[in-house]
Amino acid sequence: MSTNEARDVIIIGGGPAAYTAALYSARANLNPLVIEGFAWGGQLMITSDVENYPGYPDGVLGPEMMQDLRRQAERFGTEFLTDDVTKVDFSERPFRIWVGEDEHRAETVIVATGANARQLGLESEKRLQGRGVSYCAVCDAAFFKDREIVVVGGGDSAMEEATFLAKFGTKVTVVHRRDVFRASPIMVDRAKANDRIDFILDSVVEEVLGEDAVTGVIARNLKTGERTEIAADGFFVAIGHDPNTALFRGQLDMDDAGYIETHGKTTETNVPGVFAAGDVQDHVYRQAVTAAGSGCMAALDAERFLAAQAGHPEDALAAPRS
Ligand code: NAP
Repeated sequence: MSTNEARDVIIIGGGPAAYTAALYSARANLNPLVIEGFAWGGQLMITSDVENYPGYPDGVLGPEMMQDLRRQAERFGTEFLTDDVTKVDFSERPFRIWVGEDEHRAETVIVATGANARQLGLESEKRLQGRGVSYCAVCDAAFFKDREIVVVGGGDSAMEEATFLAKFGTKVTVVHRRDVFRASPIMVDRAKANDRIDFILDSVVEEVLGEDAVTGVIARNLKTGERTEIAADGFFVAIGHDPNTALFRGQLDMDDAGYIETHGKTTETNVPGVFAAGDVQDHVYRQAVTAAGSGCMAALDAERFLAAQAGHPEDALAAPRS
């Protein structure tokens, strides 16, 4: 079933990039529809205090901040569909987007489906998310000043996060499941040279301890089976991220890790009229504020594209490209 005329813009996603793209395109009278997914809110829904988003001098809870961003976009007429996109066809304009049997069409699409931090999948990990379990050292390190911290992972992220966390905590223990590292030697050497960082190798974390807040973890040595309890107030899982791009495979260009490729300093993808914003196209910065910034860019890029298609590039808010 096809629903309504083709819209100017449809935004797929429900995080800071999507809602900022919606805010800007709603204020540019593009009447955006945001298909935000059942899990709207994204990674901030598993974050407690956010202290590094400008404009909240006293900090804000992650879920509360997402409500605020969503409400701000709604104020200017954004429509929301709280459902998951099941299929897209970007082969010609208007682009086609399906939610189950329902088809939606749009002249431009902004993809802002984000990326998810990989989780270990432990029940105790889930229960203590935002209560000492974290997936982002830059976001949460400051909460663990003078505390003990455990990091799990053996890649560049784990080394980088451990080194960063050691500036705050008294002791950082890296637990890695093998005795060789995936991380580049220089990152491993830097972490090993830091006397606040210890390593427990050939081991996995099989339980996070604590009722209301993390008090430690249980690590199990995969070679000996021995279990060790490590006291900690913070537990950082740094085992990689997965971009949510399965829907777009074969239609949008992606790098080897599945992140959507955008051109230069724009949000343009390989399909003219389809733009990508936020973590789905950024595996470097991954911050709510950078995602929001790129959502703004995508809305301006979409507006400029529509103005050029209409033969009036000078009508776009952002200056036409020279
Ligand atoms: P990654 O390279 O995929 O490493 C993930 C690590 O987590 C691996 O050591 C892996 O162990 C471990 N792991 C995965 N699943 C696990 C599980 N269920 N339980 C326990 N351990 C698990 O991911 P990343 O470190 O996030 O890096 C992603 C990309 O970003 C890489 O290309 C990296 O070079 C880049 N990066 C670069 C920098 C930098 O240069 N400054 C910083 C961060 C990231 P195994 O090794 O046993 O598979």
